[in-house]
Amino acid sequence: MKDLRACRKCHYITESDTCPICGGDTSKDWHGCIIIVDHKKSALAKKMNVSVNGRFALRVR
Ligand SMILES: [Zn+2]
Repeated sequence: MKDLRACRKCHYITESDTCPICGGDTSKDWHGCIIIVDHKKSALAKKMNVSVNGRFALRVR
C-alpha cells in the first residue's frame, strides 16, 4: 500500500500530491480517518462540508 495523503483543504484522502476533489495540496501528516458512504445523510459530512463519498482525515497539518 502506498503512502496515503490527505487534502489540507477538504481533508479528502488520496495517494496523489493534489486533491482530486478540490485541487488543493495534500499532506502526509494527518490523523484519523472517517469513511463517508452517504454524504447526503451524514451529519459529519455536512459539518465538514463534504459533498462526495470517500475517506476523509479528521486532522490534517
Ligand atoms: Zn481537497
